[in-house]
Amino acid sequence: MSETFPVFDGHNDLLLRLWRNPRAREAIWLEGEGRGHLDLPRMRAGGFAGGLFAIYVPSPPDPAIDYDARMDAPPYDLPLPPLIGHEAAGPAALAIAGHLLWMERAAPEAFRLCRSAAEIRAAMADGVVAGVMHMEGAEAIDAELDALHVFHALGLRSLGPVWSRPTIFGHGVPFRFPGDSDTGAGLSEAGKRLVRECNALRVLIDLSHLNAEGFDDVAALSDAPLVATHSNAHALTPSTRNLSDRQLDLIRERSGMVGLNFATCFLRRDGRRSPKMGWDELAGHLGHLLDRLGEDGVGFGSDFDGAELPQGIGDVAGLPALQAALRERGYDAPLLRKLCHGNWLRVLERTWGG
Ligand code: ZN
Repeated sequence: MSETFPVFDGHNDLLLRLWRNPRAREAIWLEGEGRGHLDLPRMRAGGFAGGLFAIYVPSPPDPAIDYDARMDAPPYDLPLPPLIGHEAAGPAALAIAGHLLWMERAAPEAFRLCRSAAEIRAAMADGVVAGVMHMEGAEAIDAELDALHVFHALGLRSLGPVWSRPTIFGHGVPFRFPGDSDTGAGLSEAGKRLVRECNALRVLIDLSHLNAEGFDDVAALSDAPLVATHSNAHALTPSTRNLSDRQLDLIRERSGMVGLNFATCFLRRDGRRSPKMGWDELAGHLGHLLDRLGEDGVGFGSDFDGAELPQGIGDVAGLPALQAALRERGYDAPLLRKLCHGNWLRVLERTWGG
């Protein structure tokens, strides 16, 4: 019997699902209601040890654009929603963070909010799922960065200056296929202050969703390992959301890492959002990331509850099937352990301090 390793994961959107269904949150979290990708029973079934749980404030839907239909039929070039000010985003972000704190209150024996690598290791040793508070897009943070300190005090340990929509800090990539991330201006002055303050607080700065100029600004300013929590290889799937070889080389130089995104539109060579795919394309991306970043620079960044996944994974309970597919392709136990959690723990520890 081959060993299956617990998986620590770089990105999920369960909090958005809970926030959108507050009256059903107990059923969703504790029992699982048969939809979405994450809940406690399926985390246990899949060996999900923990991960970064994103606070993401959605834009009001634009009824004129059917995003899913367009991504089902590349090429596509989707307009980004307008900026949301921190006065509007702040209360929503607090409410979403509130769901993360509630997850621990609702199941303290099964889930723990963790603020250090030591706390994650302790949770894993106890068989308790380790949640880390992440913010995907800094809309809720004001230009003076006071709210950054508030969220840090709540447990925030990872932050992306942008989801794709612009913020006062910088610009994200539009969803475009084919396309690259060289889409305009980099970080604003406030964005540069945000990077320095995240360094001072030892909050991880997530490069996923940033455009090329913004990526280079973070690389120039930050003293932390460079990390993209959920992105793939542009050389294989030329989506704006995927990383160029130059960016991957920079991440390697800076002892950082990339979490492999399971979203089909970033894995499939044709850029289509469709689950009908085998393991080859996923293994291709993983192989390319390993070639550029080395064995210490790659982990998983599933995008559970935020994306369409390959049929072989399906949901979090499919993680053992993913590991089996990789074993079949020659991945040995030491490498699988690094991919499944070893690299995330090491990079988080370096970023956050001991
Ligand atoms: Zn994302």
